[in-house]
Amino acid sequence: MIAEQYRKMLDAKSVIRQLSEKATKRAQIIGAENVFDYSLGNPSVPAPAEFKQALLNLIEKEDPMTLHGYSPTLGIPSVKTAIAESLNCRFDMNYGPEHIFPVSAAAAAIAHALRAVTVPGDEVLTFAPFFPEYHPYVDLTGAVLKVVPADTKSFQINFEAFEEMLGPRVAAVLVNTPNNPSGAVYSAETLTKLAQVLTRKAEQYGHDIFLISDEPYREIVFDGKQQPYVSKFYANTISCYSFSKALSLPGERIGYLAVNPACPYAAEIVNMCGQISRGIGHNCPTSLMQLAVSKVLDLTSDFSVYEKNRNLLYECLTDCGFEVVKPEGTFYIFPKAPEADAAAFCQKALQYDLVLVPADSFGCPGYFRMAYCIDTEKVERSLPVLRKMMKEIYG
Ligand code: PLP
Repeated sequence: MIAEQYRKMLDAKSVIRQLSEKATKRAQIIGAENVFDYSLGNPSVPAPAEFKQALLNLIEKEDPMTLHGYSPTLGIPSVKTAIAESLNCRFDMNYGPEHIFPVSAAAAAIAHALRAVTVPGDEVLTFAPFFPEYHPYVDLTGAVLKVVPADTKSFQINFEAFEEMLGPRVAAVLVNTPNNPSGAVYSAETLTKLAQVLTRKAEQYGHDIFLISDEPYREIVFDGKQQPYVSKFYANTISCYSFSKALSLPGERIGYLAVNPACPYAAEIVNMCGQISRGIGHNCPTSLMQLAVSKVLDLTSDFSVYEKNRNLLYECLTDCGFEVVKPEGTFYIFPKAPEADAAAFCQKALQYDLVLVPADSFGCPGYFRMAYCIDTEKVERSLPVLRKMMKEIYG
């Protein structure tokens, strides 16, 4: 017998990956420059030069047994201290190394956080639109993912629906800001209200409700603004951070989990993560990468390309008559499709070699996502194509 649970997943493969594979095949026929591939959230700007230098320094000067040896189960102490100090300085927090757990990026951070605070059968709430991988992340823990419908006016939180769905079986709420796919940045007002509701409901039900904050895009915010630090608003918060997006290192699989020191179980949760990692095989993230990122914690890639692409697309989409909320961060834009069936719309777009992702699996039917982490020159060339398609098909 093979495992039915995973076999079933073969029928529900990621739409994003499927579209990206289609785009790659098409590129082999007509040339990559002629395919406007807006499918994948793979950063398109390099890591800062300081990262490469940090790597070179480590390789040249550090003992190879340290660089390539197993990391301690709970992470390299000097790295944990550096992460805590950086967070304290930037967000006025009070972390110590005992609150930090290095992991292989946000996916692993969420896998640990979910297992630390839920048991099979518990409910986990998230807000539409949401990253479709939340399904495998949550489903395979035995918890049940429930999706709060979107507030499509602003893509902040639909509080009315949230309060209704926040029943006694909810053990954790999973948020993602800046948000993939909407590009929305939750405001301090939204986060204050969220914390108030969680505190009130936890009191009412007589058990903890944890906030799991998935924040790989935390630094990718435009117009000189900043993402308010989610954990500052609610003590029982586990922040799941990744260097995949802001430092353009998705292939290196490196990030960390940080438990708010005001959470009564903070140090315990980190110690438990060491045990969880043994069970899920996500233990001991690469020592070399832990050490390398610890040297550049306060740096990011240059996001000006993303901001420029955002501006170009937003202007063109609004001009073409699309209903679209201007993204404040990330490298995604999330317009409403010009017909109710966004999948049908995206199929039509494919005929023009525009690769767009329908948002049904993001919990927001009728919308589509464009990942604009591509060259600006390509965005510019795609705009007349988009205009042509809109004119030819939708008049
Ligand atoms: N969460 C969100 C919202 C994402 O968009 C992604 C990747 O695209 C992840 C988590 C997983 O990222 P990683 O595991 O590379 O940090």
